[in-house]
Amino acid sequence: MVLDRDTNIHPEIWELLNEVPDPEIPAINLVELGVIRTVERTDDGTIYIVITPTYTGCPAKQLFKDLILEKLAEYGHHKVEITSRLNPAWTTDWMSDATKEKLLKIGISPPSVGDRVIVCPQCKSTDTKLLSPFGSVACQSMYSCNTCKEPFSYFKCH
Ligand SMILES: [Zn+2]
Repeated sequence: MVLDRDTNIHPEIWELLNEVPDPEIPAINLVELGVIRTVERTDDGTIYIVITPTYTGCPAKQLFKDLILEKLAEYGHHKVEITSRLNPAWTTDWMSDATKEKLLKIGISPPSVGDRVIVCPQCKSTDTKLLSPFGSVACQSMYSCNTCKEPFSYFKCH
């Protein structure tokens, strides 16, 4: 039984996965995003990867798979099986604080689950309002800040 995100198992594969950017937020990679759950490798060299998409309706799901396959193929790994696991659902808790900091720096508010207060990534004001449930990409919503008047993206989870 491989534990979720155990990067001690096949660290060489995790290292490659670290190079796969999130197609929607290229500043962070799929490992930082928490999308990659487990990596296993059988004796015949087949690599099994389990991913949990960030959002149930996430159109990037297929793209995640393609990008992973492409990256691994680049390094000679051609026998790769990727499965999606929806339960437990992805949560922003799977992102490290460093990753959340990174998102804030590029103007994306990463909430913690259950946290209904949306914080402005620019000025940290909690006085924000929803502009549109769909942002530039499907996994984000557009908000605007009543304090600094700047619009920003909010990471949607389920
Ligand atoms: Zn603000």
